[in-house]
Amino acid sequence: MAEPVRTCLGCGKKKFKKNLLRFVLEGNEVVLDHEAIALGRGAYCCLDKNCLRFFLRNKKKASQALRVEIAGFRVELASIFRSKE
Ligand SMILES: [Zn+2]
Repeated sequence: MAEPVRTCLGCGKKKFKKNLLRFVLEGNEVVLDHEAIALGRGAYCCLDKNCLRFFLRNKKKASQALRVEIAGFRVELASIFRSKE
């Protein structure tokens, strides 16, 4: 049985979905999908400081992944990487 694989929007590497953070759209902002169960299209990123930093600075890539023009990233997302530093 093949494990689902997704591409990290930070480094562009393909990884197992279970090893990636999942982000979804809430309103027109990107939020972390803590449980990884929210419906709809998701954007994925490694649990890695550098990947997250790149991801959170790249609205265009996230918009492409979610197939919608996003307004921005929810401010709490910054705390993900504060906790990793
Ligand atoms: Zn990555």
